[in-house]
Amino acid sequence: MKEMKEIQEIIQSYSMVHLNKCPVCVGENIMPWHRVNGWILKECSCCGFVFLDPRPDRSYYKNLYDPLSQYEYLVDGVQYMKKEKDFIDAYNNWLADIEKMISKGTLLEIGSALGYFLEAARRRGWEVYGVEVSSGGVRCCKERYGIDVFCGEIKEAGIPSGYFDCIVTLHTLEHVYDPMELMSECYRVLRPGGLIVIEIPYLKSVDARNSNVLDDIPMHLNFFTVETLEMLLNRAGFVCLEIAKGENLQIYAKRAVNSQSIHDKSKALSVYERMLSTGEEFFKKGLYLESLRMFNIMKDLFENDAAILNNIGAVLWAIGEQEQAMRVIEHALKIDCRYWDGLINLIHMQRQVGRDLVTHQYVKLFGGEYSDNVWSRKLQEIAEA
Ligand SMILES: [Zn+2]
Repeated sequence: MKEMKEIQEIIQSYSMVHLNKCPVCVGENIMPWHRVNGWILKECSCCGFVFLDPRPDRSYYKNLYDPLSQYEYLVDGVQYMKKEKDFIDAYNNWLADIEKMISKGTLLEIGSALGYFLEAARRRGWEVYGVEVSSGGVRCCKERYGIDVFCGEIKEAGIPSGYFDCIVTLHTLEHVYDPMELMSECYRVLRPGGLIVIEIPYLKSVDARNSNVLDDIPMHLNFFTVETLEMLLNRAGFVCLEIAKGENLQIYAKRAVNSQSIHDKSKALSVYERMLSTGEEFFKKGLYLESLRMFNIMKDLFENDAAILNNIGAVLWAIGEQEQAMRVIEHALKIDCRYWDGLINLIHMQRQVGRDLVTHQYVKLFGGEYSDNVWSRKLQEIAEA
């Protein structure tokens, strides 16, 4: 059999990795679920997640996805590489729907391939950024659209915390080694209430062992049902809004907020969103005391959410409460030093009050976490100005 021969070749040239635990819930009780062309899929007895185990090591996938030639596959009889207009048109319509859920701002695509979605979003006025493991894809996106994409995995990209309004990841989650790690990074880099849009092939149920979703092994490592995808998102700190089921599974979710006193995630998020808009409304009307009161209540309600503290710090500064603003932002940076805009605000505030010395300590802290990218360069520039 041809497939068995291919598998043997993979096994001989790459080391195989045994997970021995569920990549979603880390449960250790995992059972063989199905065999496909000699590969073994397992199901977690605890959460029901289906995944490939054992699997080739990460270097196998890096080599597989690296060249531009991987985009030569056919879509409706035409190479994907030559379907630019069709995809950009379709994404343009999709973005119009996304913009009904969230206002335009910063958008990150994980697994940006040749950049069709990024380009569609850029044309509509989004500030776009991509992450893609294929160096061929990254190069093509730069040449065609002039869009810079980080080549590698998201955790290496050095993206500031709480920076993005929207994350889109299409037909990528089924390929990633560690879906929980990816979702946790998505949580970190999204602002509170930020939107994530995911599309993946759809495993209709754990009984669907003959599904053609299982054809793309070993490229596909993760096989999600509605239940397991929702569980992954909940565990990573998201609130699911909408699910569309067809040949693919589309899910829309928001980054929840961290509150000690409101335990229900949906409720905490809606309280946060209402208070934020009320506080901003007061501010716009010049009712600074009322605005200050609102943001102080928020500070207590969400005292462990560094993203919220950073935003409150910026507002306090705008209201003129500089000392308090600095304390709040410093507290946020102690929780997570990767809040780029918080750092910049703090640098400016410390300069205003002649406390320049602390600045360098923070920039160094940030530099320690960050690769050389657009954010670290800009921060360096501001720090040295
Ligand atoms: Zn599990």
